[in-house]
Amino acid sequence: MRGLAKVERSSGAMEFVERQKPEPDAGEVLVEVDYAGLCGSDAGIYEFESAFERMELPTVIGHEYAGRVVEVGDGVTEFGVGDRVVERPIRGCGECYQCRIGEENVCQDAVITGVDHDGAYERFIAVPERALHPIPDDVEQRHAAVAEPTSIAARAVIENSRVGAGDRVLVEGPGPIGLLTAQVAAAQGGTVVVSGVGQDADYRLPLAEELGFETVNVADDDTEARRERHTGGVGYDVVFDTTGHPSGLTTAVEEVRKGGQIVLVGQTGETSMPYSPLVRAEIDLQCSYASMYEDFERSFRLIRDGDVDCETFVDTRFSLLEADEAFETFIEGGTCKPVFDISELA
Ligand SMILES: [Zn+2]
Ligand SMILES: [Zn+2]
Repeated sequence: MRGLAKVERSSGAMEFVERQKPEPDAGEVLVEVDYAGLCGSDAGIYEFESAFERMELPTVIGHEYAGRVVEVGDGVTEFGVGDRVVERPIRGCGECYQCRIGEENVCQDAVITGVDHDGAYERFIAVPERALHPIPDDVEQRHAAVAEPTSIAARAVIENSRVGAGDRVLVEGPGPIGLLTAQVAAAQGGTVVVSGVGQDADYRLPLAEELGFETVNVADDDTEARRERHTGGVGYDVVFDTTGHPSGLTTAVEEVRKGGQIVLVGQTGETSMPYSPLVRAEIDLQCSYASMYEDFERSFRLIRDGDVDCETFVDTRFSLLEADEAFETFIEGGTCKPVFDISELA
């Protein structure tokens, strides 16, 4: 079988490589992949950002996917052939202090599917059963492929933010995690505004509007007038930074109200700023990283109940057979959440 792999330590450099169909070891199941999404971190691998220097190449990428169990290894008890599943792709070691206290998302020695070992941009993948999550009957397979990024947003909003009914919320960044965060925050009762920059004007901000959010383009709008209009000049109760850009945090500090909360979800690199204003305004600075079992549970319920509108959100225009086009379009902001039909690789 062939899988789409990162093959060289440079930008682009993705090619199909031949792989043996895996055999499930004891405790593993073999999953046939139906659909797999393209995520910001996959784009980071495409551009080969420094966070991915640890990768051994070639590695087949892809970590957000939905499939079906086609074979089970010895000792597998929870799953059987035909079960529809997604993987929780960030796997704790089970041994370290964080894993022992139930914080596997910040495990000291986590491995990530599609980064540290072959991922889901190929037909078959062998997965430990403890990393699998069943797909509820009433969730479509293609929609289940976005359960993983939805779980990241669910963790950021439900576990790590204070958003509640009537709160004024700003989500910075209309990328996949931003628009999922916006949808989960709205489901929590927040009144959500989504902000983007120039390149988001063509696809991502209009998509945010289609999902029901007011949007602002920080490249054109007068920020102070806008804050006045949305919050009476007080500032937002909660600001999520999902931009992955150094300006995300400094902008969040301008936008949040005194006594409000900033939740950092994007990995923004380095920034320097005066922090006294944060202290004097008693800003709550919270981080959110990855997701855990309960976040997947919530993710599926949010998808099932339509709080996350997958039909509108998922972009089916792209083929993994022409992956460069999908990646380039993603990086330019011309798509938000491409989901590939992996059966095309057959
Ligand atoms: Zn992802
Ligand atoms: Zn661990």
